[in-house]
Parts: sequence; C-alpha cells; structure tokens
Amino acid sequence: MTQDGGQAVHIDTSKPHPARIYDYLLGGKDYYEVDQQAGDQLAAAAPEVWISVRANRAFLHRAVRYVIDSGVRQILDIGTGLPTSPNVHEVAQELAPDVRVAYVDNDPIVKAHADALLSRVGTTSVVLADLRDPQSIIDHPEVRGIIDFGRPVALFLVAILHFIRDADEPERIVATLRDALPAGSFLVLSHATGDFADDRSEAEAVYNGATATMNLRSRDRVERLFDGFDLVEPGLAQVPFWRPDSTPAPGSAEIGFYGGVARKN
Ligand code: SAH
Repeated sequence: MTQDGGQAVHIDTSKPHPARIYDYLLGGKDYYEVDQQAGDQLAAAAPEVWISVRANRAFLHRAVRYVIDSGVRQILDIGTGLPTSPNVHEVAQELAPDVRVAYVDNDPIVKAHADALLSRVGTTSVVLADLRDPQSIIDHPEVRGIIDFGRPVALFLVAILHFIRDADEPERIVATLRDALPAGSFLVLSHATGDFADDRSEAEAVYNGATATMNLRSRDRVERLFDGFDLVEPGLAQVPFWRPDSTPAPGSAEIGFYGGVARKN
C-alpha cells in the first residue's frame, strides 16, 4: 500500500506495454525508453502509424458524440489507455453532463494514472480487469456501480481487439459482452489491419516482446466481430472515413485501422 492508501503499482520498464507505446506515438509523456524504442521500430516498419493513432483517436471522439446524440447515457470503455485529453467522459459530458462512464483496462499503470484523472465519484470509475475474461467485467461490482445493464449501453472496444490472439477467441469475447447488453445498445469498435499495406509482419513482430501481441485482421474478420449488431452508415470504414467532420488528411487511405459503430436491435 502507498501512503495515500492506494495499491503500490509495480512498473515493469523491461518490456514495452501497448498503452505506453500508444502514448508515445500520440505525443504523451507516460512512457519509458523500451516503449519509445518499440514505437520507433513500429514507425520504421509502418510509417503511417503516426497519423493512424491520431486518426483512431479522432474516430473515438466522433463515435462518442454519435452514441450520445443517439440517446445513450452509459459508456463501457474497455481498453481505455493512458489518459489522453480529451478523454471519453469529457467528450461525452460536454454533450450530456449526466453520462456515466466505466473505464476498464488490464494494465495497472493505466489504472494508476487513470484513477487520478478520470475517477469522478458516482459518474466515472476505472476498473482493472481483462477483456479475455469478459464475464468478469460484466459481473464486476464497480462496473455494476456505474452501468445499469437494464438500459442501453455503448460498449467501446477501440484499438484493443488486435491485442487479443485468435486462441483467446475475440468473436466469443464480443458475443459474451453483446449478450449482456439490452436492445438499443451500441458497439463502437476499431481494429488494426494489414489490408492497406503490402506486408506488415515486421510491424506485428514489434509486439512479440511486449506485454500483448499484435494480431492484424482482415476486413471480413473485423466485420464478423459485429455479429448480432447492425452497422450504422457508412458501415465498417478506415477510421478517417467514418463520418468525417472535415476532409480526411493526405495519407488517410493508407491508415491501417478499421472502425465502425453498430446498434443492437
Ligand atoms: N481505447 C483507447 C486506447 C487504446 S490502447 C484509444 O483507442 O485511444 C489499447 C489499450 O488496451 C491499452 O491501454 C492496453 O493496456 C489495453 N489492453 C490490451 N489488452 C487488454 C486486455 N486483454 N484487457 C484489458 N485491456 C487490455
């Protein structure tokens, strides 16, 4: 325990962490040398990665606005990442101050940083749990303290499912979460792909020494993750082309991230 009563967090600086690599690529400050090295290797293998992470973040913000405009007032954001302004609850609460957000991540460093910045008594909570055990998220008392599964929920799985191996059955994981949501709920999902490049195996390999592997998936695999939901217009798209609010930047056609929003009817 730390002096303020919190759990001491063991920070492993020997291995890159996906959340810290992403923070480095986004221009944050919560990364270590190993993460910077991994990020630089990734950018050497896939130069579009710098604009890709920003385009993913912009997609996240547009998707938050979309679900709030659709009337949803509860967000379950799994794979939160290190706090990056503006965060999900900030974008959401600008439109609807009564929005409640449960943030979930399996990286204790994310939880430690996020607790300080994202926890708001009664309206937002940061929960340490693993997507590979989706039932533990649904049943988690802190998640239940924020989210009422009797009312529509927007489930965010943004830039996380590519860290789940096939052996851990990403389709099954999403289906378990889907079955816990009532009609009128939404799934917001983005996922890295190699569909727009000749070969991205070198980029994938950067994560071999990290705390989670990178599993690029093709369009049809990503589309299958939306089983049981109906994609809203324009369907699954490269993230800069999902309901853009300005002309997508040059280079957007090379961005290896699919994004989509879908409704459970
Ligand atoms: N959703 C944010 C951050 C994406 S970074 C955004 O798109 O901007 C991916 C996050 O997923 C990291 O914080 C990482 O720690 C988390 N993550 C990876 N595997 C996970 C798992 N099995 N369970 C929970 N979180 C996981």
